[in-house]
Amino acid sequence: MTPTWTLDSLYSADGDQSWAARDLRCLWHPFTQQAEWQPLVIVAGEGNYLLDEHGRRYLDGVSSLWANLHGHRHPLIDAAVAEQLGQLGHSTLLGLSHKPAIVLGEQLVALAPPGLSRVFYSDSGSTAVEVALKMAFQFHQHGGDSRRQRFLALRNAYHGDTLGSVSVGGIELFHQLFSPLLFHTERVEPELAELETAFATHGHELAAFVVEPLIQGAAGMLLQPPGFLRRARQLCDRFGVLLIADEVATGFGRTGTMFACEQAQVTPDFLCVAKGLSGGYLPLAATLTTEAVYERFLGRRSEHKTFFHGHTFTGNPLGCAAALGSLEVFRRERVLDGLPAKLDALASVLDEQLSAHPNVREIRRCGLMVGIELGRDRERPFPAERAIGAKVCEAVRKLGVILRPLGDVVVLMPPLSITVPELRFLVEATRAAMDEVVGAEARDVVQAERSE
Ligand SMILES: *Cc1c(COP(=O)(O)O)cnc(C)c1O
Repeated sequence: MTPTWTLDSLYSADGDQSWAARDLRCLWHPFTQQAEWQPLVIVAGEGNYLLDEHGRRYLDGVSSLWANLHGHRHPLIDAAVAEQLGQLGHSTLLGLSHKPAIVLGEQLVALAPPGLSRVFYSDSGSTAVEVALKMAFQFHQHGGDSRRQRFLALRNAYHGDTLGSVSVGGIELFHQLFSPLLFHTERVEPELAELETAFATHGHELAAFVVEPLIQGAAGMLLQPPGFLRRARQLCDRFGVLLIADEVATGFGRTGTMFACEQAQVTPDFLCVAKGLSGGYLPLAATLTTEAVYERFLGRRSEHKTFFHGHTFTGNPLGCAAALGSLEVFRRERVLDGLPAKLDALASVLDEQLSAHPNVREIRRCGLMVGIELGRDRERPFPAERAIGAKVCEAVRKLGVILRPLGDVVVLMPPLSITVPELRFLVEATRAAMDEVVGAEARDVVQAERSE
């Protein structure tokens, strides 16, 4: 029997209120000041574009929060999910297994830096990091080095929003308020000499060093000095500290290689992936680790070496199917081979449009991850309360582009499937929006100062 009920009948129902009004009555959005916000209601995706309820099309300039890789409604990923749906929507990995998790596990091990041979699933970037933190801690507890209870993390780190990930996070605006709830974490600047000092001081008490390799995303697209990750690996080895690479943002081609760690030829002890893992389709995450870590947890049940951690939807079959579809797209469309030409084009259009702009303090880029830091001029930031980054992202919407800023850093992080002409449009639209907003604001600020 075919069901007579459809979602479409719900979505096309003419409420007497707009969708935005209905949203504002019942939802509470993440990282959103509800008092100062108007919903934009997305109804469909189409390749690199999102469509709103009024039929307007927007280039998805931040990959639906850094997740989408190959565009929306990619036929191959859609088919993978639909086919899986015909088999099994969900079954647990706690004591049971399923084919999508097994095949995806094999493929991830084959793709990851050599030496990472075990895959532990969860469902978000935050949980992927939580898992790595708890595994690293427990590893040392079992190993008899129970003094190793601390973590080292970068200043301004972002590793997710659950309390363990927040404890290793260091973004004041997001994290400071919760400090009474957090465990203590040692901090280091992404700088070689500081890293040496931090290990010399704390190396003996550290369980792990957790780091976003090459570029810190949510911190504002901050680049690390060359050799930083390699040096971190060496220091971890010398001091018996585990290395956790959080590739939730950088993984799956975003920096130009499948994983950022590859560029430093580093194998971490833990590799955390999420956002792009399912092609940006479904919530799925994984923490990869080595056989040495895995084996430390083996024993009889009565020894309590089990890793007592797992989420209900860990390794969900639909998510795994989407991920298998995404990895097939990488192979079929030779996605990584196509990136250098796009990255060259991006670099040159950024240079041409923005590098000499009077309100651009700095452009930071690693692969398809770009941060454009705005300011009154090259030296001085805008006053934060003016929310210039947010205003630029509002203005660029009218030009048909979705962006989301990090303070006054305008972020561009398009899907890997973006074309060269679309890259040019993305940067040109960003520049036009900046000229509109920043020009007016710069004049305002100067006037305000004069009248003081
Ligand atoms: C987004 C992000 C996370 C958190 O992932 P969620 O899926 O949002 O929980 C963790 N680490 C990094 C580097 C991220 O960019």
